[in-house]
Amino acid sequence: MQQIVIESAEIVAIGTELLIGQTLNTNTHYLANQLNLLGINAYYQTVVGDNKERLEQTLRTAVSRSDLVITSGGLGPTVDDITMSLVAKVSNRPLVLDKVSQKNIQAYFTSSGRVPCQNNWKQAMMPEGATVMPNNNGTAPGAIVVFGFDGQKKAIACLPGPPDELKLMFEESLFPWLETKVKYRFKNRFLHMIGIGESNAEMAIKDLIEQQVNPTIAPYASPGEVCFRLTERIAKDSAEQNISENESNSLSLDQLAEEIYQRLGQYIYEDGERTLPEIVFDLLKEKNETIAFAESCTAGLISAQFGELPGVSSVFKGSIISYSNEAKENLLQVTQSILEKHGAVSEETALAMAEGAAKTLNSDLAISVTGIAGPDGGSEEKPVGTVYIASYYKGQTHVIKHLISGQRNRVRKVAVLRAFHLAWQNLMNKLN
Ligand code: AMP
Ligand code: MG
Repeated sequence: MQQIVIESAEIVAIGTELLIGQTLNTNTHYLANQLNLLGINAYYQTVVGDNKERLEQTLRTAVSRSDLVITSGGLGPTVDDITMSLVAKVSNRPLVLDKVSQKNIQAYFTSSGRVPCQNNWKQAMMPEGATVMPNNNGTAPGAIVVFGFDGQKKAIACLPGPPDELKLMFEESLFPWLETKVKYRFKNRFLHMIGIGESNAEMAIKDLIEQQVNPTIAPYASPGEVCFRLTERIAKDSAEQNISENESNSLSLDQLAEEIYQRLGQYIYEDGERTLPEIVFDLLKEKNETIAFAESCTAGLISAQFGELPGVSSVFKGSIISYSNEAKENLLQVTQSILEKHGAVSEETALAMAEGAAKTLNSDLAISVTGIAGPDGGSEEKPVGTVYIASYYKGQTHVIKHLISGQRNRVRKVAVLRAFHLAWQNLMNKLN
């Protein structure tokens, strides 16, 4: 029997809770990303409730137009968990008891000191001939069924709904299986930029975007930053040797990245997938230096983001959340005269806050933020969105005034990014 080759796929997320907005469909987001990494074209995503007729119809439509259908959810023990029985129907295979799954379910219950009930054995029923994927984070095993449909080979892979179970099963079982069934791989490069808007960034490479075939360029913006994803499709057999599919005379992936560096290099802070806080952390480690923050309008957001990084205690001295003038005076030694003369949202206060944080917390680098996040508090001179971000680095100070557009949440979020940007500029010696 000829092996199945998987070039296209689609994702079917199953669950009424997704349809009514009770649960965010994070599984589809995760799976779409993984398919992209595998070089599989994902053309459709569907959400369908726990309803037999509609799910069966959805599965038939999906199978008719894609080589692979990945389902998420509906593998539980209750009556509304209907995925496996409908997959059996669509693939024309009877449901049979899988002994290994039965044993695993028994072991799972024993290890947690419980006794399985009749419903739980339903989870060991698999379409005949399926490759069973064990669930090492729960009870519901998954399955991969390969079958003929309208004269073509198709596959349906069923994963459980709880995100922790789905991810682990995907990593342990489905990803390795898929790797042996794909024809292409995508090679990606992610160029992250800050300090330039999306349209200016795009204008600078308009000619390259217009010429693109393989590799392709996909620009996307998130608040405060821009990223270009460069993607080259490579035949799998040659992926190890990096032989491109590209036989035309257009640029290779690396040549394209080089060309973009020539034009926009000054804005590129990452050629990869690290976030700005991660880069700042890596730079501090490399230099064996420490950082501290003084936060007013961000009220701890910067510190919370930095604190998410494992191991950060080696470089992170601490933070002072100085929302009130009193806190700025008492904890950061910002003088009353600065506050009275220039106001809490000013260059002078931001600079004094950075210096105060560096001295109080004894760090090499300190970053401070003070601004007006809104909706109230703006004036003609200092409208909502005015944010001063200052740095103190080994005796040198620097301050930048930003005007951040949008509502309170956006202003604070972008201010966090700009704070890390200023830290990065200091550590990279990119301030003039
Ligand atoms: P199920 O396997 O359908 O019983 O789903 C179990 C639980 O997993 C649901 O109650 C949701 O909390 C979660 N879940 C199901 N599908 C998704 C999804 N697509 N994204 C995120 N969580 C999900
Ligand atoms: Mg469900």
